[in-house]
Amino acid sequence: MGAVNFRIVPRSGKIIRYRNQSYRLVGSEPYRRRDGELSVILTWQSRCPECGEPFTTTSGLVTRHLTRRCPRHRKAGKPVSDKYKPDCHRRKRHG
Ligand SMILES: [Zn+2]
Repeated sequence: MGAVNFRIVPRSGKIIRYRNQSYRLVGSEPYRRRDGELSVILTWQSRCPECGEPFTTTSGLVTRHLTRRCPRHRKAGKPVSDKYKPDCHRRKRHG
């Protein structure tokens, strides 16, 4: 089953869970897809599991995947601009 699967636009404040992470609907707006069909974009707010920062992400009414991390951690592998976060690089081996 996908992360998001609605037939009608849910109300703001709706909370869903996706892979142990909760997302709160904070907005929705209509948009026209490339093929001309009208659809809706949902805006979700969640917290990054890496740093706890709130972030927002968007989806359609039906989607299989939701972004799970804040913009900073989403770009894993790309250089972090100005803020250095040692936690990202900490790796301890047991034993
Ligand atoms: Zn983060």
